[in-house]
Parts: sequence; C-alpha cells; structure tokens
Amino acid sequence: MRILVISDIHGNLEALETCLAVAKEAGYDRVFNLGDVVGYGASPNEVVNRSRELGGIFVRGNHDKACSGITNAEDFNHIAALAAHWTKNQLTPENLEWVRQLPRGPIASDVVVDVQCVHGSPLDEDEYIIVVRDSYEPLMEAKTSLTFFGHTHIQGGFAVDGEEWATLRPIYESEDKAEKFEFQLKKGAKYLINPGSIGQPRDGDWRAAFAIYDSDANSIIFYRIPYDVAGTQKRIYDAGLPDRLATRLTEGR
Ligand code: ZN
Repeated sequence: MRILVISDIHGNLEALETCLAVAKEAGYDRVFNLGDVVGYGASPNEVVNRSRELGGIFVRGNHDKACSGITNAEDFNHIAALAAHWTKNQLTPENLEWVRQLPRGPIASDVVVDVQCVHGSPLDEDEYIIVVRDSYEPLMEAKTSLTFFGHTHIQGGFAVDGEEWATLRPIYESEDKAEKFEFQLKKGAKYLINPGSIGQPRDGDWRAAFAIYDSDANSIIFYRIPYDVAGTQKRIYDAGLPDRLATRLTEGR
C-alpha cells in the first residue's frame, strides 16, 4: 500500500496541483491529509474541492478551525487572523461546513496497522513539535509506531529507537529541481513523520513538500517540487490579502 501524505496546503492551488501530478505519476492508493487545508492562500474553495475529491483520511488544523468559526483566531497574529477572516467569507456554505466538520486528530489509519494521523501532536492537536525535545513526550505516549504530523511546515521528523533519539531531515541536491529522498524505517523504532507543507513551506526551501509512505517497503519517500509560485503570489495580491503572504512563499519562511 502506498499512501500519499499531504499537509498544510493553506489554500495554495498551484502547489497542490503540481504535487498531485507528481504523486499520480509515482502512484498511490490512498491519501492522508493532515489539515490546514485553508488559511493564508487565495484559493480556498478550489483547494477544498480538490481535497474532497481526493478523499481518504483527514484531520483538522488550527487554521481550518479559525477559518470555519470553531475558534475565533484570537491567538493568531494579525496577518493570519486577517487571512482567516477573508477565507471564511470566501468559502461557499457547503465548503465552510465541510471544513467545520473536519475531525480532530489523532485519527487511526483505516488501511494500514499501527499508523495514525494528527495535525500538531498526538497529545494536543495545536501543539508544535519543532525540535527533538518537543518530540519526547509525544513519541513516548503515541499509541502507534508511526505518527504523521504537520503544523510546523518543516519536512522531516523525529525517531526513537531504544535509547536513541534522532531528528530526521531529508537531504536534497538542488534548490530548484524536483527531488525525492527515501528514508527507510526500522522495525521496533517509533516515528513522528512530517511530510512538510504543500502550500507554505517554512524550512527555508520554497518548493512544495509532501511524502509517500510505502507500507510494504516500510519507507517514507519525501518530495520537494518546484511550482508556479508567481501564479500563487499573483492570486494573493489580486485577492487583496497581505503582501507578506505572497513574499514569504519564495523564501520558504
Ligand atoms: Zn499550517
């Protein structure tokens, strides 16, 4: 079974479509979507429609909650709150309701055993797991060997194998070409794996990020894919959203 793992699309249609074309070529059987489908980007309805078509497993993100009125975005910075408000007004009533109904993680995989999906952490859907220290408790407490998480927009993850703790980062050769990096999982170890963000990477690499989990090979294939970032930026400017939401995309920050 090959599972396409996507997260933090954030209303970026160009990045999503480009990644889906690459993933289709690579082949996959099911999709796990780790949330923050909307918020920041200028194509919320298009991205929700595409996500609904893809189906699979979903968990909700903090932006999905803010953009659908579950939370009031009061802990968001000014720009994020403004984008959440804009998104809420843009979503069709049906799409707004779909976003509102997204389930809270963790959600166990229905197709492979010992795998679960969360947005932030297995212990708290809104928690950020950024450095290995943040991963201690979630990895110890996680009920599955493999947990897919998002929220930080940083591709890679964390592992514990006996006494050994590790931070995982894929290694790439270029900054502007389509690339993949395969990581072999070990039996007996526990993993937190972040596919990275499709729509707003923050790990210094502007290319859209996703991953494919191959359960037969027990490996994760991380991808970084260049996309029409100028097209995405134009939509953000045209929508009247804050300029910073466009400029940060080329910085990968
Ligand atoms: Zn996000």
